[in-house]
Amino acid sequence: MVKIVSATTRDVRFPTSLDKTGSDAMNAAGDYSAAYCILKTDSTHEGHGMTFTIGRGNDIVCAAITHLTDRIIGQDLSSLVADWGKTWRYLVSDSQLRWIGPEKGVIHLALGAVVNALWDLWAKTLDKPVWRIVADMSPEEFVRCIDFRYITDAITPEEAIAMLKAEEPGKASRIADAERDRAVPAYTTSAGWLGYGKEKMKGLLEETLSKGYRHFKLKVGSSVEADKERLAIAREVIGYDKGNVLMVDANQVWSVPEAIAYMKELAPFKPWFIEEPTSPDDVFGHKAVRDALKPYGIGVATGEMCQNRVMFKQLLQQGAIDVCQIDACRMGGVNEVLAVLLMAKKFNVPIVPHSGGVGLPEYTQHLSTIDYVVVSGKLSLLEYVDHLHEHFYHPSVIKDGYYTTPTEPGYSVEMRPESMDKFEYPGKEGVSWWRSEEAKPILQGVKI
Ligand SMILES: [Mg+2]
Repeated sequence: MVKIVSATTRDVRFPTSLDKTGSDAMNAAGDYSAAYCILKTDSTHEGHGMTFTIGRGNDIVCAAITHLTDRIIGQDLSSLVADWGKTWRYLVSDSQLRWIGPEKGVIHLALGAVVNALWDLWAKTLDKPVWRIVADMSPEEFVRCIDFRYITDAITPEEAIAMLKAEEPGKASRIADAERDRAVPAYTTSAGWLGYGKEKMKGLLEETLSKGYRHFKLKVGSSVEADKERLAIAREVIGYDKGNVLMVDANQVWSVPEAIAYMKELAPFKPWFIEEPTSPDDVFGHKAVRDALKPYGIGVATGEMCQNRVMFKQLLQQGAIDVCQIDACRMGGVNEVLAVLLMAKKFNVPIVPHSGGVGLPEYTQHLSTIDYVVVSGKLSLLEYVDHLHEHFYHPSVIKDGYYTTPTEPGYSVEMRPESMDKFEYPGKEGVSWWRSEEAKPILQGVKI
């Protein structure tokens, strides 16, 4: 028996805006941040979870996390996870907090941190990595993790059980693939940030190509001419006929007609997909872009700002996307992701999770492994960005173009306490980087 006795939050911000890491057409200068949740128990185990933001407002998410953890303090872990779908429903059903969502925005980002901290705690008590807990579940147990309200018009629990049962025969061999680190091929965005100069971009592309990557994503959307130049450089490095795949990401800057016109201009560079061509809430807009670009062989991807399973349901039902980019903490943690994995499987759309942020590759490696081993039975890609991993006890690692399957108990986002102290915002005088002279250009600069 493990009882949750208290919860704390940490507002941790890494000053990535200084070198434009993470910069794209919409997010000019982000400071990659974690709204971090620690669940303390009456045992030696702690649950660690976080949600990702890009700086200002991270404190608001931390405040929301506290409102949610208030609902589980004093409860036994075993009773919370015994009927996970019911617990998840309970966590989104505070009738007053629900008003500031429902199931979207800050309160839902906070839910992601809390739910993931519970999974981390559970996994540690079971001495398993999170992906393995799910891999060891029966189809019935998997389905009990999910709150099916709002999605039964797309998939019912009975249908989900039948789908999972159909994938069971190959499961043992897919677990073996995971154990030899062949479950999750990686792609890289490291070279592609919009704020990087051409030489830096070219150098990073050459470096990542030599490391075994075959899929590369570049940010677009600043201007057609500049993007043509950048994509030409990228194709020069990776070629057109060497089996290397190029993807582009506009981070929502365009209207629907602009997205179509712009991408027709970039079609000669043969991107596999355009990611986030327009507003993340525009289901029919994505459908229109997809239909218009189909003759050019360009697909549509979205999901990193898709706020919940209902939006994913609509994108899938309408045939609006070719690639489903779930985010580990934009949605309400593992449970809601499992619901989307099932729907994507039903609509035959591959899962390519969003991982461009601190802690995200650590999380999503579990989710992609679950998708391969338990749900879709098919290999798909997972984004990897090569920075800020040193702050975690169990950083994600890429070898030969694949993620190394996590083996340590938990959900892999436990951050080193010294990193939390050093980058806590506003932090302690003499301890936090944010109190130093170096921080002044960010703190006193123009907020863009
Ligand atoms: Mg993106």
